[in-house]
Amino acid sequence: MTRIETDKPYVFITIDDGAVQHPKARELMIEAGVWPSVFLNTKYAEGHKDYFKQLPVTVHSHTSNHPNLLGKGFEFQKNEICGNADFLAGDYGKRPTLFRPPFGNYDATTRQAAASCGFKALVNWTAAVNDGRVQFQQGDKLVRGDIVLMHFRTTFVEDFTAFLNRAKQDGLTPVPLEDFLA
Ligand SMILES: [Zn+2]
Repeated sequence: MTRIETDKPYVFITIDDGAVQHPKARELMIEAGVWPSVFLNTKYAEGHKDYFKQLPVTVHSHTSNHPNLLGKGFEFQKNEICGNADFLAGDYGKRPTLFRPPFGNYDATTRQAAASCGFKALVNWTAAVNDGRVQFQQGDKLVRGDIVLMHFRTTFVEDFTAFLNRAKQDGLTPVPLEDFLA
């Protein structure tokens, strides 16, 4: 899915990969009262358990090595997806429930592989934040149910602040994705 069906003015923030562990992330999330969903790769998150554990987030799966899964064989996809889920379960004490394919790319094999690893939902997005600017796949504002993508980058403060400001401007409240996708 790329968005959540809801009657309420809610929006969802997701943060991917985990490449840069920005020191201001926790403070920004707590000040805003926002609990993001984060989709971590083993290759970025490995060795940074303490950093991601102190964030007010729910950790989800994004493959071990961030490959483009499109067209890859079942065993390859299953190893990437299940391996990452196993790693995250070990570091965070809870098996992730949501899966996001790298680059948003997936095929029927991805769905089968993800299902075999225990995932019920593939979660993509409807808007993205890059270089401190919110970019929309359709239209020129956020609308209820949008799932917004950003990354753990050096521009974390600019990106997270841009999301918060845009949500406020568009009359939307960020709420946890896990309230809608168990
Ligand atoms: Zn990614």
